[in-house]
Amino acid sequence: MPVATYQQYVRMFDEAKKGKYAYPAFNVTSTETANAVLLGLAESKSDGIIQVSTGGGEFASGSSIKDMALGAASIALHVHNVASRYNILVGLHTDHCQADKLEKFVKPLIAETERRRAAGQPNLFNSHMFDGSALPLSKNLEIAEELLKLTAKNEIILEIETGVVGGEEDGHDTSGVSNEKLYTTPEDVETAYERLSKIGRFLLAATFGNVHGVYKPGNVKLTPKILRDGQAAVQKKFGLGLNPLDLVFHGGSGSALSEIHETLEYGVVKMNVDTDTQYAFTRPIVDWMLKNYDGVLKIEGEVGDKKVYDPRSYLKAAEKGMAKRVQQAASDLRSTGKSLLS
Ligand SMILES: [Zn+2]
Repeated sequence: MPVATYQQYVRMFDEAKKGKYAYPAFNVTSTETANAVLLGLAESKSDGIIQVSTGGGEFASGSSIKDMALGAASIALHVHNVASRYNILVGLHTDHCQADKLEKFVKPLIAETERRRAAGQPNLFNSHMFDGSALPLSKNLEIAEELLKLTAKNEIILEIETGVVGGEEDGHDTSGVSNEKLYTTPEDVETAYERLSKIGRFLLAATFGNVHGVYKPGNVKLTPKILRDGQAAVQKKFGLGLNPLDLVFHGGSGSALSEIHETLEYGVVKMNVDTDTQYAFTRPIVDWMLKNYDGVLKIEGEVGDKKVYDPRSYLKAAEKGMAKRVQQAASDLRSTGKSLLS
């Protein structure tokens, strides 16, 4: 199927919330990694999300061009072109965009969706993240309100963040952040809901001790109950049903499966996966190079082996390796077999 429509994307999250599962959202930086996600999701009969970060967009635009919006658009267009060959739904999303990068990344991408809609074409992206977590909450939400007006008008979902995800991702290091900011308070969640829910559909990355990057299992101190308490506060204050918010789990590498499953009880419908699929893509390449050492190199006047240094040979292995990890993520998040198309 082609990339999910707005209606399908909304239904994906609604069904996930009801069924207590979540969609894995994979960071990709190339056509190969995007293809790996589509392959893995299709094998799992799971819908899912492909996302591009600012750094991923820069990379995809070419190392001398470094245009984050251009590269992200390029990956999105590739996914629009090939997704119809896979029998699952995929949503396209952009990851962390801090306030100072909005003009270079999210805004031109929304403008491109606006242009496409006017021409009768589908949206370029289904959702965008604005990361105002480094700002005071009032300023964070003020910018989010403005953006949400723009995204809602174009049937795009906006993801925001309250609290700060620790660690380092894409050169954005938060190791200097005070510990209490790593845990969102119920009051923050209430305020975000109050100000944003009347404008349009949004996803909330409410932090609960999560960290970006890679950690050995057991080294990340998550407190998923923070999500439960935030949901309960909003439910009570606004007289709503169970788990009124659509929550996003960032920085989940190295967390225990039991903790991941606990977050599904509290309305997490999207979980970002990056570090683990990076490794899964690179691992088969390492294997290939070590096993074919005297073929990938031209040693002592020899000519090497064209069959093993053709980039397609090891990138095919990388695609397969990453697709396997994609399948594991779908299984961990209980989205396997739940595609809305099956
Ligand atoms: Zn994140």
